[in-house]
Amino acid sequence: MTDRIDKTDAEWREQLSEDEYEVLRKQGTERAFTGKYTDEKSGGMYRCKGCGEPVFSSDTKYDSGSGWPSFYEPVEGSAVETETDHSLGMARTEVHCGKCGGHLGHMFPDGPQPSGQRYCINSCSLDLEPSDQN
Ligand code: FE
Repeated sequence: MTDRIDKTDAEWREQLSEDEYEVLRKQGTERAFTGKYTDEKSGGMYRCKGCGEPVFSSDTKYDSGSGWPSFYEPVEGSAVETETDHSLGMARTEVHCGKCGGHLGHMFPDGPQPSGQRYCINSCSLDLEPSDQN
């Protein structure tokens, strides 16, 4: 596991846009069908917008119809961590970057095989590094 990043609130505000800050640091959720990666089909590595750690590969991205970028599993060896989130009066599984603690989205048990999981991720918490541009 790589060294964790621990920045002050002021440093995150400085580094991130308002939308990114709201999601990554305040566990906000962008509105459905508004994120730039919802329908993204390019191949590549999705990195955490907060720290650049690889978190999801385009190989595991699929169209869930939910309105958010969806993946069936994190990239191998990634820093993605989960914990139970009781906000909104229900138990959900929160997904965040283990390196910087940035909130990425939630995980639901209705994804495709082989994992059966749906990682429902906010576009603005991600930064796609395309691999198929020649
Ligand atoms: Fe991160």
